[in-house]
Amino acid sequence: MNWNIPSLKELEKHFWRCTACGTCRSAYDYGPPPNARPICPAGTEFGFEGYYSSKGKAAYARGVMDGTLDFDDPEFLEAVYKCTVCAGCQNQCQVDFKPHIPEVIEALRREAVARGAGPMPLQKNLVQSMKNYNNPYQGPRRVRTEWTRPFKKAKTPIKNINKKSAPILFYVGCTGAFNQVARAVPTATAQIFQKLGLDFGILGENEVCCGSTAMRLGDAAEFKRVATANLETFRNLHEERGVNTIVTSCAGCYRAIKKDYTLSSDFDKMMAGIKVVHTVDYLYDLLQEGKLQFEKELPWTVTYHDPCHTGRHLNKFKVDKDGSELWEGAYVDIDESECLYDKPRKLLQAIPGVELVEMDRIRANSYCCGGGGGVMTGFGDWAAKNAGIRVAEAMETRAEKMVTTCPFCHYNLNEGAKRSGSSMATHDLTEIINMVLPEKG
Ligand code: SF4
Ligand code: SF4
Repeated sequence: MNWNIPSLKELEKHFWRCTACGTCRSAYDYGPPPNARPICPAGTEFGFEGYYSSKGKAAYARGVMDGTLDFDDPEFLEAVYKCTVCAGCQNQCQVDFKPHIPEVIEALRREAVARGAGPMPLQKNLVQSMKNYNNPYQGPRRVRTEWTRPFKKAKTPIKNINKKSAPILFYVGCTGAFNQVARAVPTATAQIFQKLGLDFGILGENEVCCGSTAMRLGDAAEFKRVATANLETFRNLHEERGVNTIVTSCAGCYRAIKKDYTLSSDFDKMMAGIKVVHTVDYLYDLLQEGKLQFEKELPWTVTYHDPCHTGRHLNKFKVDKDGSELWEGAYVDIDESECLYDKPRKLLQAIPGVELVEMDRIRANSYCCGGGGGVMTGFGDWAAKNAGIRVAEAMETRAEKMVTTCPFCHYNLNEGAKRSGSSMATHDLTEIINMVLPEKG
């Protein structure tokens, strides 16, 4: 299987176009404050005018390409990895080199890995764990299904799709399976699916990491290994087990399968007849069809945190390919139809008693929780501190709870609240829906 993952050299014409204007400093909606608030977690922690923000990263890319900078400088290497790859900068940048800022940062990291320097030491353990165990959490295969034990005990076991056919594969993801706090997410998802009477199965111990973390860290070889294995599994499941829909509750897995996997030359062939959706998509469609009805009331005031991976990571920038609209390579428009901005909010608002109040930085301007891009593993204290900033923003809204749709954000925001002494709790949307959904009648 061939993969078309661009090298730093191939992105050169894009990062030279950064004018260091600094527009990527703030989240703004082309209106007055209060919407203009910092958007870059790295800039917020280490100083935007330093070299940690996107304009600094673009300068780094130029320095590496012309030989001025090398990864043998530990401070330089660390700065390359001090970025959550949240794409907040890219959403603000109005220069015509979209959609390339996170791509440049990841290509810079691929260059660091290729030269034997990257990723950071703690992140190397994560990649080694993927090689040993097919997950980044150093968890043996049997631990992957621990979250399913209560289902067996309750005599409602979840179907193993390797043994029995089902039209829906619930792709759990490593964070939901191995992280004790985030296990609430697959548990709630499976309970919802059972209440709705859906015919679904899981890969269980045979599930392999989606590769998102490896890709964000610049380890293209490891990404390609697991992504190829997954595409082959999906094809086999379609042909032999009747799978036509893959549902995941993990924002990282969703982004990887939906976007990173399209870099495979065989993507269309391998995924023919298979639809990939986030649980939010799936449940929203059922809501529209009148098949999802909430009976119980939940008198909560909540605020919604948009994960980067189900939000702006999925937007599509329209670029003038041949100069017929503006000039060749110019960014001319944005398509946000695949970004999950409205659907989770509409699901929340459909729950009797729930009041949704918004933070300043939402949707494409969402402030990253701080856990992405390998930061939670490589720089855990900073990840939790940044989550504390987001929790404080939620506290400004008078919300009693935060809601999100990503096990990574779920874990990190709860960790940030704990470490900053806040009483704010973050729930996954599936947990909330599970609370108000009646038992299977
Ligand atoms: S990345 Fe874009 S917005 Fe940021 S400094 Fe460069 S040109 Fe300006
Ligand atoms: S991807 Fe996020 S953390 Fe990295 S430079 Fe851009 S805004 Fe900052």
